[in-house]
Amino acid sequence: MKTFCGRANPTTGAMEWIEEDEDYDYHQEIARSRYADMLHDKDRNMKYYQGIRAAVSRVKERGEKAIVLDIGTGTGLLSMMAASAGADFCYAVEVFKPMANAAVKIVEKNGFRDKIKVINKHSTEVTVGPDGDMQCRANILVTELFDTELIGEGALPTYEHAHKYLVQEGCEAVPHRATVYVQLVESKRMWSWNKLFPVRVEAEDGEKIIVSPSEMENCPGVPSVCDIQLNQMPSSDFTILSNVVTMFSVDFSKPVRSASTYYRVQLEPIQSGKAQIVLSWWDIDMDPSGTINCTMAPYWVKSTSAFQWRDHWMQCVYFLPNEEPVVRGDAVYLTAWRDQYSVWYKLQKAREEENKADVHIESPVCRCQAHLLWNRPRFGELNDQNRTRQYVRALMKVLKTDSVCLCISDGSLLPVLAHCLGAKQVPYFFLANHLEDKIKIIEARPELLTSSHLEDKKISVLLGEPFFTTSLLPWHNLYFWYARTAVTSHLASNVTVLPQSASLHMIIVEFQDLWRIRSPCGTCEGFNVQTMDDMIK
Ligand code: SAH
Repeated sequence: MKTFCGRANPTTGAMEWIEEDEDYDYHQEIARSRYADMLHDKDRNMKYYQGIRAAVSRVKERGEKAIVLDIGTGTGLLSMMAASAGADFCYAVEVFKPMANAAVKIVEKNGFRDKIKVINKHSTEVTVGPDGDMQCRANILVTELFDTELIGEGALPTYEHAHKYLVQEGCEAVPHRATVYVQLVESKRMWSWNKLFPVRVEAEDGEKIIVSPSEMENCPGVPSVCDIQLNQMPSSDFTILSNVVTMFSVDFSKPVRSASTYYRVQLEPIQSGKAQIVLSWWDIDMDPSGTINCTMAPYWVKSTSAFQWRDHWMQCVYFLPNEEPVVRGDAVYLTAWRDQYSVWYKLQKAREEENKADVHIESPVCRCQAHLLWNRPRFGELNDQNRTRQYVRALMKVLKTDSVCLCISDGSLLPVLAHCLGAKQVPYFFLANHLEDKIKIIEARPELLTSSHLEDKKISVLLGEPFFTTSLLPWHNLYFWYARTAVTSHLASNVTVLPQSASLHMIIVEFQDLWRIRSPCGTCEGFNVQTMDDMIK
């Protein structure tokens, strides 16, 4: 059987369907890069190894056999650590087939064939019993199922199931516990990634302000996590409003509940300002005493973090539903809501009645459509006043009162800017400012544009930022070139095309850290993972 996979063609912008074999997994490339990054994460690997050794010793000291369940084994790394630490047997579960196949080879190459059984299943499909995948329940549970948001890869339901069906009561868990920390900040830069600021346009007849419609203003945005390298964020880009507080923690050695819930903390602002953003990160304690700790704390919380680079775990930026003024010393309540896979935040001045039954737990869902069209960097770009000013300057040079403009760009503000600056008619696009009769949205690909779409008018100004949502790489925006050619027959003989030309610049660099995500690893904590290297290469 073959599967059809959708791919955007960067030249034509069109969605194309490509036939792939049944067992082709189109997440492979992503998966590979993340795996390499994890294998290069010395701090993570060392601490897992220490935690696993300690857990195996504790079980052995009790005179028990050490039976390990490693959920999401990937390359088999954590199982090999456990076997080397003296575990009697390891069940290594991996759902992703190409990885499970690699794990089998790696385990064999390292001589652990008798100690480690690779099970190519999702953990919730694993059976226990004489004829099952596992002979008996495990007494050591090892996993690395965490993303930057901790729970985004489904760690909670996986743990919940494992405690019910796959491990013994009172089992050892590595990691033993995870703790989520938060800090309240004001940051115009980060805030600009989630809401459209009013756009100021200096026209000849005075300043005009483009505002976003109220449904956009009040839209809660999307639930997908905004994960960034906070260690790359200069301190001048945000103002800290609160100390770091613990939001919640999860003990992995006890039954875990994945059902939606909320956690609330009281914060005392240490600085007055506009609360806009909750910064968040987590740490994991590999052992119950908390002496083996692996933390994602940013540089201003832990100075050595500045040198601890990793791309598979970063820090989270959460946007509060609305900005709230806070006053130094006046307590506020921060609530973290979570479902099985994501977390979101709300800030309140007074303590709300804690009647759990009344509490409404619904993750943010975009109501305004803009968050579905524009990703966070794109919001930031549209909010860049300097950039807007340059477009306005360019438009003022080329627009005349009788200009007929055609804009080719996805979700662009150019048509609104052009209208503010006096263009007669702007086909294509858009939204709030009651411009429906001035700006016409044409739902057609450039090559399918007809004169009737344009009411038989010829285009005097062809505009583009250019920006296209299908562009994955910077030069994919050169699609504008293709589109411009496709609409040639509709252009007036003296047409102005903006942008007029483009040049592609490149430079060869050496990365300090980023090279790691695609680089072969050779051996990891003494284990030969070359099979993985072959996949990465
Ligand atoms: N344990 C390895 C790899 C961690 S990446 C290491 O530490 O280096 C997490 C892996 O878990 C991925 O390969 C993913 O496919 C797998 N996975 C996630 N949830 C799973 C589940 N519930 N059952 C089986 N595999 C799972």
